[in-house]
Amino acid sequence: MTLSFDPDALELPRGHFIGGEYVSGSGAGLEMRRPSDGAAFAECPVGDAALVDRAVDAARAALAASGWGRVRPRERVKALQAWADLIEAEAGRLAQLEAVASTRPIAQIADIDIAITAEQIRFFAEFADKEGGDQVPTADDQLGMIMTEPYGVVGAITPWNFPISMAGWKLGPALAAGNAVVIKPSEMTPFSTLYMAELAVRAGIPAGLINVVLGDGPVTGNAITGHTGIGKISFTGSTAAGAAIMANVARTGIRPMTLELGGKSPQIVFGDADLALAADCVTRGIIANAGQVCVAGSRLIVDETIAEALAEAIAGRMKAVRPGATWDAATQFSPIISERQIGRIGGIVEAAQARGARAVCGGRRMERDGYFYAPTLLAGVTETSPAVTEEIFGPVLTMQTFSDEGEALALAGHPTYGLAAGVFTRDLSRALRVTKAIQAGTVWVNRYGRSRDHILPTGGYKSSGIGKDLGREAYRANRRLKSVLVQL
Ligand code: NAD
Repeated sequence: MTLSFDPDALELPRGHFIGGEYVSGSGAGLEMRRPSDGAAFAECPVGDAALVDRAVDAARAALAASGWGRVRPRERVKALQAWADLIEAEAGRLAQLEAVASTRPIAQIADIDIAITAEQIRFFAEFADKEGGDQVPTADDQLGMIMTEPYGVVGAITPWNFPISMAGWKLGPALAAGNAVVIKPSEMTPFSTLYMAELAVRAGIPAGLINVVLGDGPVTGNAITGHTGIGKISFTGSTAAGAAIMANVARTGIRPMTLELGGKSPQIVFGDADLALAADCVTRGIIANAGQVCVAGSRLIVDETIAEALAEAIAGRMKAVRPGATWDAATQFSPIISERQIGRIGGIVEAAQARGARAVCGGRRMERDGYFYAPTLLAGVTETSPAVTEEIFGPVLTMQTFSDEGEALALAGHPTYGLAAGVFTRDLSRALRVTKAIQAGTVWVNRYGRSRDHILPTGGYKSSGIGKDLGREAYRANRRLKSVLVQL
C-alpha cells in the first residue's frame, strides 16, 4: 500500500469539536495554504470567547457526568489504551489530515509521529493507577498525607510544527491525570487534532473530555488563557507568545502553567569526535522537519582543527536531501510552513551574508513550487549576528570554531535560550564536564534528538520555558497537591 495521496481529494473535518460533536464556525475564517505547493485549500474558523465558554462548559459537564477524575483509575488506563489503538488503526486518514496542511512528510508521520504518539498515550495512561500521593513522617499522634487531584479543565495550545505529537504531549498526561481539556491547535494545522478528538469519542473516552476550539492566538488563544474556568494552562510555541500568555494569565487570574518555548541549541563537536557520526547527527539535527523543531541544533560549535572536514561532510549530506510534497511517500525533506516564514529565513541569512558570513551550501530558496528552503551551512558568522542569536526555525546551521574547551562553552551559552544541546567527543570525562556546565534542559552526548523512550522530560532552561512535557513530570504537572494533616 502506498502512503501517497491526492490532497485535492481529501475530505477535511469542518468546524470545531465540542461536547463530542463538530460545531460549525461562524464569521470569516483564516485562509489556509498548503506548504508543499502554496495552494489555498481551506479556511480555519476563529472561535471567539463565547465559543471557548461553551467548550469549558462542555468539559465541566463531561467531567461531572462521567466522573472521569474520580473513577477507578484503571478505567482511565483502559479508555486511553483503546484510544491509542484506534489512533493506530486510523493512521491512514490521520496521517493524510496531518500531511495536507503541515510540513510533515507522510512517511515520517506514519512511521514516527503517529507511532510515537500512540505509544506516548499508552505510556501516560499507565501512570493513572501507579502514580499517587504520599504519606509523610509526622509526630506519632498525627497522620500527614499528600493527596494529588486533577485540576478539572486544562487549557492546551499547540504549535504547527508537529501537530499530532504536540496534541499527544498535552492530551495524554492531562486525560490520564483525570482532567478534561480544551485544546487549540495552530490555525495552520488544525485537522489532525480534530480527528484525534473524534477518535477519542469513538474509542469510548466520554464526549466533552476533549474539546477542540480552532482559531488564532489573539482571539481564541487569548480567550483560553484568560478563562477562569480553566485550572491549568499548557502551552507549546514561541517565547514571544509564551510571554503574552503569562501577561494575560497575570491579568485575568493567576493559574499554573507549563510553557514549552523556543530554542537556539548548540551542537559542540570536539576534535576527538567520531567525525562521520557527528556529521550525521549534526545534519539530522538541523534538517529534520526543515529545521522547524524546537530543539533544532542550529549552532555548530566545532574544534578549529576539524572544522573544514566536518563542514565538508555536513555540506555533502545537506546537498543530498530530497524535497517533495508532504503527500508524496518518497519525500524526506520538508517545506517551510508559510510564505511569511520562508521570507523571514531568507532575510536572516541575507543579513548574515551582508555581515561577512559565507554559505558553504544553500543560502537560497529552492526553485520549485511551495515553500522550500535549501539546507544551509553558514560559516564566518559573528557572535552577535541574528543568524546566531535568533531562533530561525528553518534549515540553517551556523558554524563557529573554538580552540579549547573553555571557548567552546563560552560560545555554546545563549543569553536567553536554554532548550537543548549536543556534545560529540570520545572523552567521557570531557563529555560529563561539558554536560554539567551547559545551561540547557536536555543534553545529548554522541547523538542528537529524542529517543522513543518517553520517560525523559523535555523542557527549557531560561526563556525556553517553564515546566516539562513528557516523563513522569508531565503526568505530575497535571495534578495538584493537597497537604493533609490529621490529628489523631
Ligand atoms: P506560536 O507561538 O506562533 O504559536 C503557537 C500556538 O500559540 C498557536 O496555536 C498560536 O495560535 C498560539 N498563540 C499565538 N499567540 C498567542 C497568544 N498571545 N495567546 C494564546 N495563544 C497564542 O508558535 P509556532 O510558530 O506555532 O511554533 C513555533 C514555536 O514553537 C517555536 O518557537 C518553537 O521553538 C516552539 N516549540 C517549542 C517546543 C518545546 O517543546 N519547547 C516544541 C515545539 C515548538
